[in-house]
Amino acid sequence: MDAKFIMSGLDAMVENPRCELEHKTPFELLVAVILSAQCTDKRVNAVTRELFKTHNTPSDFASMPLGELEQKIHSCGFYHNKAKAIISASRDILERFGGAVPNNFDDLLTLAGVGRKTANVVIAVAFGGDAFAVDTHVLRVSNRLGIVKTRDPNKCEEKLCAFFPKNKWSKLHYQMVLFGRYTCKAIKPECARCLFNRECPDSRV
Ligand code: SF4
Repeated sequence: MDAKFIMSGLDAMVENPRCELEHKTPFELLVAVILSAQCTDKRVNAVTRELFKTHNTPSDFASMPLGELEQKIHSCGFYHNKAKAIISASRDILERFGGAVPNNFDDLLTLAGVGRKTANVVIAVAFGGDAFAVDTHVLRVSNRLGIVKTRDPNKCEEKLCAFFPKNKWSKLHYQMVLFGRYTCKAIKPECARCLFNRECPDSRV
């Protein structure tokens, strides 16, 4: 399957790709993405809807006691590390970036708890940049479609960026996330209703 075929198939199956993490500012998005590791967007949204009523700026979190934040985000899992990352990133943003989330990849990567996936999502969604974030869905779908053969998200990102046109990266990221979440699921992918099922090397029909 070439890039054009995959893009037209995804356009037909995932018409309105968008970030399902609720946020109003780049900082809220950053917090939501940190919370989303190993957790569903639905759970994160339920937590941030309450959390952001009282805390939604770097200053709010920089001075927040760790235990209080842990309690508020407990249901997202890995709450100790996530709370530490949010507080440290908030302090970094205040001390080194004047209180604003940096809008470039290299600076984002210097923040606590921010890896390539998080930085790419923030660049693409909050700042409208071209970025290809590779999460578990993107990695699985890319392997099943035969675009890559790797479990390494960084190698997958590199290949995807070379395979698809740059101005489509952000859109394709969300199409692949939603396609992986609702059709090409980890367990029991719905191959019978997938438009790639004749060409896909991993098709189960
Ligand atoms: S045919 Fe099945 S395994 Fe292949 S991309 Fe479609 S849903 Fe995924």
